[in-house]
Amino acid sequence: GSGSSSSGAGDRVTVYGDSAPHPISYFEDLEGEVKPPILANIAAAKYSRPTLIQRSVIPVMLAGRDVLACAPTGSGKTAAFCIPVIAKLLSNAAQRRSKRIKKAVADGKTSGKTCYPMALVVAPTRELTTQIASEFVKLAGRKRLRVTEGHKLRLSGPQPVAAVDVVVSTPRRGAVFLSHPNVAISHLLWFVLDEVDRLFDEGFISQIDDIFTLLKQHERAEAEASGEHNASLQLSRAFFSATVPSHVEELSGAVLVNEVRVVVGARMQ
Ligand code: ADP
Ligand code: ADP
Ligand code: MG
Repeated sequence: GSGSSSSGAGDRVTVYGDSAPHPISYFEDLEGEVKPPILANIAAAKYSRPTLIQRSVIPVMLAGRDVLACAPTGSGKTAAFCIPVIAKLLSNAAQRRSKRIKKAVADGKTSGKTCYPMALVVAPTRELTTQIASEFVKLAGRKRLRVTEGHKLRLSGPQPVAAVDVVVSTPRRGAVFLSHPNVAISHLLWFVLDEVDRLFDEGFISQIDDIFTLLKQHERAEAEASGEHNASLQLSRAFFSATVPSHVEELSGAVLVNEVRVVVGARMQ
């Protein structure tokens, strides 16, 4: 892909990738793509203008493109992924499918599967999963999306797994969750890794690799089924970090599909 950059007041934004959507300047630019209650929640959070990373990443993710985003700590990366994830989960197509699933689960027509998550977000610490989950609740509202942290889910024992829309988890719990017999990963719309540089460290990489393997099996199954093909209901991936060393860039490139890369500040190290 080609690189394009724009330097504003000191900070530099570089976007790599084929035909990347244009950045936004204001949250109001999202009207029509993001439902009014979400825009109201953004305003209520006192986010008056999007940060640089949000300006570039939100339209890319709204277009359903995979993304690798690099921006300094404190630059609003959490909302940069929460807003487009929420928008897709609350889209009419996703909500219609969600209603069908709820009914099928209630009628016992889902061969034991009770949980059909629409988004999985993985972060390296429980403190982070708590922060991310509360950002989701702040921007979506508790009634619109069922958001939970991986360590709060009961995944052992005979009881069914609670129905949830968004799971925010540390790596090991995330892998256990996805491989649980009562969890269907077939309806996942978003797979997000936050602080991907730490997730690709030695201590986590085998757990992250387990998650990649589970998701690949799902993609293969989907390609073979090739039944209902609704582009707005495909899985997309988004990886975020404050630093992207070359091994993280390479590993990300092997997992992301036709991704857009957005870098705020210095180029990727
Ligand atoms: P990062 O993940 O990049 O380190 P965070 O997502 O934790 O940054 O955000 C840092 C702070 O900025 C948080 O307190 C968040 O509420 C705030 N914030 C995020 N987006 C905006 C915005 N558009 N305007 C003002 N504050 C914002
Ligand atoms: P669970 O909480 O379900 O056991 P994990 O085993 O993935 O989930 O991680 C548990 C906690 O251990 C995390 O919150 C994290 O703080 C810490 N931890 C585990 N491995 C690492 C590592 N390589 N680097 C930093 N922290 C780690
Ligand atoms: Mg962060």
